[in-house]
Amino acid sequence: MSDRTWTLTPLVAGWTSYDGGTIFGLVPKSVWGELLPPDERNLVRIPNRCLLARNGREIVLVDSGYGGKGSRLDREVFEMDAGNPTVDALARLEIAPTDVTAVVLTHLHFDHAGGATIFDAERKLAPTFPNAKYYASRIEWEDAVDPAPELRAAYPQNNLRPLLDAGIALSFEDGAEILPGLVARIAPGHTRGSAVFEFETADGPALFLGDLAPSHWHAKQLWTTAYDVRAIETRRSKVDVFAAALERKALLYWAHDPSVVSSRIVERRGNNFIVEPVELDELGDVRFRRDN
Ligand SMILES: [Zn+2]
Repeated sequence: MSDRTWTLTPLVAGWTSYDGGTIFGLVPKSVWGELLPPDERNLVRIPNRCLLARNGREIVLVDSGYGGKGSRLDREVFEMDAGNPTVDALARLEIAPTDVTAVVLTHLHFDHAGGATIFDAERKLAPTFPNAKYYASRIEWEDAVDPAPELRAAYPQNNLRPLLDAGIALSFEDGAEILPGLVARIAPGHTRGSAVFEFETADGPALFLGDLAPSHWHAKQLWTTAYDVRAIETRRSKVDVFAAALERKALLYWAHDPSVVSSRIVERRGNNFIVEPVELDELGDVRFRRDN
């Protein structure tokens, strides 16, 4: 296997409960509630999915889940899993935190970057993956590390400062090849600096979408989360990314889909895209039907 060819393994770094309205934005509950029925509190239970990408040389974690630092209040409100689900999910794949060589982050919200840091044995903040370099887009770092007052709550600094202090926080620009066969594309909207990651695999290109489209239901242009800072840009970015993905027959991975791990686009209808689930064990080198 050449260095450019990646094997991708999806893993769930914990589950979270959100008010369904925040996940589906403008879409009426009468529509999304049929697809993902909420509980009596209007909560829907969704996973924080990451990818483990390996090429025989590098071990790359794509997004890092919410990790294990949540306060008791956060854990209650979002009904987070106990412990550190990111580290636990990697352990099930026999990957130790020290094995990870790079962490690539679509954006720096807590449910994607919280797993980047831990409280160590002395209750001091530290990078979870001490041998890794951590990558996010330059714009995302700018917005996250010195946030506008309106964005402060979205970027808890204890997820980020230890990476900067350790000198392992790196940034990329649109189109950068972070590692051979791993390209970052900036797709603004959910945040100003949100990125998607494209991997070369034995089955063709594969895209991890972050929150550009967190589930297969979000393949429709107007289905954006209520968290999107610039929803109108999400609509544009989504059409650009999905049109390119259709052209290249790319496999799509969903970061928060409770039922579908990955899909392919089968058709474009105007600015909406029809997607069909892909059973992962049908693919040559991806043998995990279910999330690990
Ligand atoms: Zn998210």
